[in-house]
Amino acid sequence: MHGGCGLRPKTVPEGRDEALRAAAESGLRGRTAADMVERAARALEDCPLFNAGTGSVLTLEGRCEMDAALMTGDLRAGAVGGITGVRNPIAVARCVMDRTDHHFLAGEGATRFARVAGFPRYDPRTAARRKRWRELVGALGGKGVPEGRYWKRMGGWVGRYLTREERGHRSTIGAVAIDARGGVAVATSTGGIWLKLPGRVGDTPILGGGTYACAHGAVSATGHGEGILRIGLAKLACDFMATLPCQKALERAIAFARREGVEAGLIGIDARGRTGAAKNAQWMPTASAGGRR
Ligand code: ASP
Repeated sequence: MHGGCGLRPKTVPEGRDEALRAAAESGLRGRTAADMVERAARALEDCPLFNAGTGSVLTLEGRCEMDAALMTGDLRAGAVGGITGVRNPIAVARCVMDRTDHHFLAGEGATRFARVAGFPRYDPRTAARRKRWRELVGALGGKGVPEGRYWKRMGGWVGRYLTREERGHRSTIGAVAIDARGGVAVATSTGGIWLKLPGRVGDTPILGGGTYACAHGAVSATGHGEGILRIGLAKLACDFMATLPCQKALERAIAFARREGVEAGLIGIDARGRTGAAKNAQWMPTASAGGRR
């Protein structure tokens, strides 16, 4: 599992490393690789110390718009983008995979699908996130969704008003697993980035961008979403696994990301069960559980 990449925080919030380890352990109770990554991802979505599910960061309008995807080595996949009002976006993504003819539902339709599928209404915004959002929007002069002439200035605002930790470490979560039958799977879930424009969808739910699995292995990415999307990083790393062991494949993909100026971190597992992690960011906490490492 990974818990996002970025700058190493001056102090790691208490309980964060333990939560990552416990989530990896909880994944082992799943039977198939898809069950494992879903369980592990749900555990971290329920932990407010991570930016996924409960504790997701807020958009410029103060909403949680969450992205999540789950994919298996036999190319089954489900994803949601910009979903609101649910507790576990990864479980909705799993439901898209198992119960629909589609792979990706977005926005209002994704939320409506979740309701019909039986996911109760839930507000993932924590008191701490709401308070921080009020401060930030206050600092921006209560501007709300800016007009077109402000759109290109958002990056500057983020640089000016977010703390080093908020800017530099976004705490997305990801999991990869292999089951007893050799099936691989990946799950990635995030609230995205602070003060994103409503409707912004990052790399996380895009198959091949932040999340990908195929016959060679499974990969979850974290980092600068727009950049990861542009270079199709998770698919690239999986493709490298056709000829390279997992760790080497991830390193080669990260070397490419570095050359393209994209900050990223990857975890992966190949079809032989070899795991790996690579990053060009300063920090990416990881945890693993089970037999082969
Ligand atoms: N990649 C995520 C996004 O851009 C954020 C992250 O991984 O830190 O939405």
